[in-house]
Amino acid sequence: MRKSGQMVAEILGMLKRRVEPGVTTLELDRIAEGQCRKWKARPAFKGYGGFPFTICASPNDRVVHGFPNSDPLVEGDILSIDFGLIYDGFFGDSAVTLPVGEIAESTRLLLDITRQSLEDGIAKACDNARLSDISNAVQQRVEKAGFSVVREFVGHGIGTALHEEPQIPNYGAPGRGPMLKTGMTLAIEPMVNVGSPSVRVLEDGWTAVTLDGKLSAHFEHTVAITEQGPEILTRP
Ligand code: MG
Ligand code: MG
Repeated sequence: MRKSGQMVAEILGMLKRRVEPGVTTLELDRIAEGQCRKWKARPAFKGYGGFPFTICASPNDRVVHGFPNSDPLVEGDILSIDFGLIYDGFFGDSAVTLPVGEIAESTRLLLDITRQSLEDGIAKACDNARLSDISNAVQQRVEKAGFSVVREFVGHGIGTALHEEPQIPNYGAPGRGPMLKTGMTLAIEPMVNVGSPSVRVLEDGWTAVTLDGKLSAHFEHTVAITEQGPEILTRP
């Protein structure tokens, strides 16, 4: 899990360095797929339920599961990239939302709060905590800042399958759900909207967008619960 996690982190780092006005998300997809092939890893999303690409590329009001395309990124956009792979039988899964050139101060706040909510959730991923302690920590951070948590999509267990039990909602009261134990590996992934939490899926059957057309951000890490606390396997 550490090895696949590090591969995911390195490839996301490569993509991050390429994100600027004029670049297309299809170019980013090719870079990610080529690097997987080079390292003899397999993209986790391509072919998953019929998903046709290596990365999910979700700019601006796209929440998750966007298709890479040949539209150039534009200064002031934000771009969520979700990427996973399997190596030697184990999965890693991580997502970041990146600024394209200069972005508005209010947009910067959305990215900062979403990243912080992920960190708050991860901090609760400890032996003998309860699953919804993670959910509640994410929700508190997001709603205190005046943003909203997407309900329709959740984090998940991860290991020899991309999506394992338990599902990890990004909202809810603390102290509920299964007890967390050392050795569990979780993908924690808040999706945060500037406006209403409502989303809809486009006709491609995949791309989730905000119902009100406002911005959305997404950060994700694969995390192991250890005796020393949470270990972020996809940290660059
Ligand atoms: Mg992911
Ligand atoms: Mg995930």
